[in-house]
Amino acid sequence: LLAQQERVESRARTYPRHLPIAIAEGQGSFVRDVDGNVFIDFLTGAGVLSLGHSHPELVRAAGEQLAIHAHGLDFPTPAKSAFIDAQLSMLPESMRGRIKMHFCGPTGANAVDAAIKLCKTATGRGEVISFQGGFHGSSHAAMAVTGLVDQKRPIANGMPGVHFFPFSSCSRCPVGLTPDACSVNCIGYLERALQDPNGGVPLPAAVILELVQGEGGVIPANREFVQRLRVLTRELDIPLIVDEVQTGCGRTGTWFSFEQYDIEPDVIVASKALSGVGLPIAVILYDERLDVWAPGAHTGTFRGNQLAFAAGARAVQIVRRDDVLGNVRRRAEQVGIRLGPLHRNPWVRDVRGVGLMWGIELADPRTDRPASTLARAVQALALRRGLILELGGRDDAVVRILPPLNVTESVLDTACDILLDAIEEGCR
Ligand code: PMP
Repeated sequence: LLAQQERVESRARTYPRHLPIAIAEGQGSFVRDVDGNVFIDFLTGAGVLSLGHSHPELVRAAGEQLAIHAHGLDFPTPAKSAFIDAQLSMLPESMRGRIKMHFCGPTGANAVDAAIKLCKTATGRGEVISFQGGFHGSSHAAMAVTGLVDQKRPIANGMPGVHFFPFSSCSRCPVGLTPDACSVNCIGYLERALQDPNGGVPLPAAVILELVQGEGGVIPANREFVQRLRVLTRELDIPLIVDEVQTGCGRTGTWFSFEQYDIEPDVIVASKALSGVGLPIAVILYDERLDVWAPGAHTGTFRGNQLAFAAGARAVQIVRRDDVLGNVRRRAEQVGIRLGPLHRNPWVRDVRGVGLMWGIELADPRTDRPASTLARAVQALALRRGLILELGGRDDAVVRILPPLNVTESVLDTACDILLDAIEEGCR
């Protein structure tokens, strides 16, 4: 299979060697490779293709827009207005009137950078607090606030003023406690560091986090941890940035993941699935109190992608019309039931998910060490059976799925069959 990639891309070194296929076309939940083999795609461009590959209505919306006007820098346009209206209409009602939107460029990291810069400008402060295990992107600032050690090794010490704290990953407690006896000890570190004048951390410009760490291994934050973080940041007037790049646009069963925690962030970062069909766009949504940038204060050429605007506005209509969020919740229940028996497998340390982002953490039952080789084998076995999966988490030992949000019950069932078979065979 690797030869197939080499054949198609022999002069580049960009392709995923662990998913050694070359894709010719995609439709809905499926892709076809250049040799005609069909796969269920549960990676979907890392969660970008929320309505599947080449959704016909989104293709039409983007195609019609391309014929009219493709790129508009910062000019107001009807497509941009429709996109803004559609996105703002998806906010919880209590937030709608006071949230502004800024276009940041094509990719998630652009919006993370913008969010940090906006908070620094608004507060006049320079430090940022982030969490262990989080991922925020590959640009310099986004990587600097990324708490996945392996990924940021190339820029170790690359950006001063970023402080990392334990994340409430209850499935593998960062401070070695159990959820019934911990009093959410993990948030205590941050509370003490910020409230104690000798705590060692100056008042920061922002706190940034994912509420479900995606690349970090599908780790949902503890509810009390998040709520106490919100209270703390409010008390100290620290803007709270929630990175919804992966969790946003319905992935977790609500439009934004923060809705499930009953909190309101000051800044929301969104990108990936905003267009529904893979067109690049990234935005921040932020409280009007942080509205300190004059027009032109934070620019970038590819902020006016009219195709993404047209598709993104249409995607919101489709999500509403087709009750896509309801489908996410029903399919999430299905995944939970289908993968439930994995808990009996000694190599499966945990099965966890929110909406349609799921992770199966594999670990050696004798040592509790991450079972990276097994995870890699499961990925390869699943691919051979026709299912594309991703890995993540500590040492890439978490098998992850990110299906399209409109995936059907029967495709999901088939994918679960393949996944269960691949794990069983991998463990043999
Ligand atoms: N934040 C999160 C939570 C992400 O998952 C990602 C990408 N996986 C990013 C930021 C960066 O987005 P991009 O790769 O589009 O720059």
